Amino acid sequence: MGAEKTLPDCSKLFLGGRWVEPVQGTYYDNENPAKRETICRVAQASAADVDAAVRCAQQALEPGSPWAQMTPAARARLLWRVAERIREQVEELAWLESLDTGKPYGEALHGDIPHAAGAFEYYAGWCSKLAGSVLPVSPRYLDYTRLEPVGVVGAIIPWNFPLQMAAMKVAPALAAGNAVLLKPAEQTPLTAFALARIFEELEFPPGVLNVLPGFGETGAAMVAHPGIDKITFTGSTAVGKIIMRGAADTLKRVSLELGGKSPNIVFADADLKRAVRGATTGIYYNQGQMCTAGSRILVQDSLYEKFLEAFTAAIADLRPGDPLDPKTRMGALVSQEQFDRVSHYVALGQEDGATLLAGGQGSADSGYFFPPTIFTDVQPTHRIAQEEIFGPVVSILRFGNEEEALRLANGVSYGLAAGVWTADVGRAHRIAHGLRAGTVWVNTYNALWNEAPFGGYKQSGMGREGGREGIEPYTEVKNICLSL
Ligand code: NAD
Repeated sequence: MGAEKTLPDCSKLFLGGRWVEPVQGTYYDNENPAKRETICRVAQASAADVDAAVRCAQQALEPGSPWAQMTPAARARLLWRVAERIREQVEELAWLESLDTGKPYGEALHGDIPHAAGAFEYYAGWCSKLAGSVLPVSPRYLDYTRLEPVGVVGAIIPWNFPLQMAAMKVAPALAAGNAVLLKPAEQTPLTAFALARIFEELEFPPGVLNVLPGFGETGAAMVAHPGIDKITFTGSTAVGKIIMRGAADTLKRVSLELGGKSPNIVFADADLKRAVRGATTGIYYNQGQMCTAGSRILVQDSLYEKFLEAFTAAIADLRPGDPLDPKTRMGALVSQEQFDRVSHYVALGQEDGATLLAGGQGSADSGYFFPPTIFTDVQPTHRIAQEEIFGPVVSILRFGNEEEALRLANGVSYGLAAGVWTADVGRAHRIAHGLRAGTVWVNTYNALWNEAPFGGYKQSGMGREGGREGIEPYTEVKNICLSL
């Protein structure tokens, strides 16, 4: 893992370009989930800190301020520099992410961190492309639109891909000229501090990015604050609903990236080897703690037995181990809470009468480790087939024809992503069109790009991240009409 690594100082908040003590002097311990040891003490932001951060962000946006006056090209260069710094520090950031989340170091090194850098690179390009238009209304008028920043953006993120989630929000928000309050998940604040350190080194105008770690109350204070114009949230559907209700009082703009129960649909004509590989990483990558986890595998009847045999064989050597060992492919769950949640769902599956084919028994003695788990004989109505488990637990169901596959796939309240495995091009498109999901992968899974819109149908969310669709919600459209 190369050069020496250092922990960022997590004992202060990053507000208005300075490191400050939390007003109430409150701190909490941040745990390494693979060892159950304390990593460091973290400053906890209160409503008073949120209020102070909002004022810093508002100052950053004032007409005439360095940020408001900066040309789009200069803003793009700064954002690009953030990406460069992330890439220069890729090993250290991957180490921090692995230490904090329990995810395999290799996944952070080749996945999370480069993806985060890519978000800054991609949205740097948009700074100078966010153009309005001139509208053909009447020869006697000039009518045009401007895309202006929404204002102060509150970004609330989860613990499963901390830096990547931060980048997916901070990069487009800043590219569009906003200022941001970033609240990392309480379990995983390390890389948010590392990002703040990068912003400090690059001498961003003060208040453009503010980092406020804390629990749900910190997020709730952001949602309630009248000085915040937009909330962008990634997390559970349950909290997404609370946020939407809370945001109504001040009519904030809201974007929500929420949970999923995504199907991986394997037709009998699929390339079995590829489908098994895709379905395996689809559910066990990041210990299954992915919003896109392919947690329901639907297999066509005539391939079912063969698929099951190959899938079970594929996970035989997939055992949880030390996340910081570069050879480890499966790490630890993020917390005791998450460990209990996964264990609870395994018990529920058994009570409901599903067959536990593999795994099912974790160990939380010296780290929250849970093995790859498979359920068969699952009814579509079982809770393990309907609810998001957010762990390494998959339900394998069978279907007869395309119609049944779609009925099963769409028969949940979520609609984030889906996979289709088939050699028939026409069928691939038919199924892709019939699926009520924001992303459909054909003969691949979890292929995520900063250039492409990502987000949920149904209770998986509102709005998109990535692509043009990912920056537009950070703008207000102003129409200007002038009599000639
Ligand atoms: P969570 O909803 O418990 O917490 C997410 C964030 O919200 C944390 O920062 C938390 O402190 C904050 N929060 C909690 N209560 C709050 C409140 N009342 N008001 C404001 N903020 C509050 O989710 P989690 O357990 O951290 O993450 C797992 C969830 O995230 C899963 O459901 C997963 O599917 C989802 N997720 C979705 C996507 C996506 O892009 N759709 C990506 C990753 C994770």
